[in-house]
Amino acid sequence: MSSNTDFALAIEDLTVSFDGFKAVDNLSLYVDKNELRVVIGPNGAGKTTLLDLICGKTRSTSGSIKFKNKELSTLSEHQIVHAGVGRKFQTPSIYENLSVYDNLEVSYPKGRNVFGALTFKRTPEVDARINEVANDIFLGDFLEMEAALLSHGQKQWLEIGMLLIQDPELLMLDEPVAGMSVKERELTAELLNRISKGRSVLVIEHDMEFVARIAHKVTVLHQGKILAEGNMETVQNNPDVIEVYLGH
Ligand code: ADP
Ligand code: MG
Repeated sequence: MSSNTDFALAIEDLTVSFDGFKAVDNLSLYVDKNELRVVIGPNGAGKTTLLDLICGKTRSTSGSIKFKNKELSTLSEHQIVHAGVGRKFQTPSIYENLSVYDNLEVSYPKGRNVFGALTFKRTPEVDARINEVANDIFLGDFLEMEAALLSHGQKQWLEIGMLLIQDPELLMLDEPVAGMSVKERELTAELLNRISKGRSVLVIEHDMEFVARIAHKVTVLHQGKILAEGNMETVQNNPDVIEVYLGH
């Protein structure tokens, strides 16, 4: 028997109501450490709202979100990042006019000195870490390139790198392969499989071929509720899932 405290992320009875409309409705979801969970479901199912709730962008109406047994739903967005949660939005938010290197450098976690001011120094250690992350995200040969000149897929990877450099224990990605080429999707699958080791990853995605490559377990959301959950095969063969999502 495992208890709910064994999970990295334990969401229980989570609800958010927008003027009476429940975008997430009494949802319970548990994600393990080292697990890569994919959330699928039709447009408007509440997938993005779920990530907004976890990262503190949206406040829940009721329920609890525990990460490593720490309640997140009362924390600020900044405190949630500090608790080890990183989130990538659908559109990449990188600094277009900075180089790949500088984008990674500005994302490197900064220390605070005794006066509360942010301090940052480029040390050999920081430089090594930037190079390591750049290689991880297939941008090792593009460090000096201005981010604006990267392909759409490379921009997505850069934003993943900007999160990775902070070494989050829970990484959340909203439709990371939208607009990517076939080759970029393959590389992204390889990247996500690699980075799910040692942390938890929560991915929202529509591309079922991609989902099959990365998912340990799949959760299907529909009207703010869980319609089905399990491995890819179980979910794909579920008649309710076929009816509301996969069938069209
Ligand atoms: P998905 O990402 O699964 O496509 P969303 O989470 O973006 O769905 O949206 C779920 C539902 O909640 C939609 O009907 C959307 O219009 C509604 N919604 C999301 N955010 C808000 C908000 N801040 N105010 C009102 N309605 C919202
Ligand atoms: Mg969405």
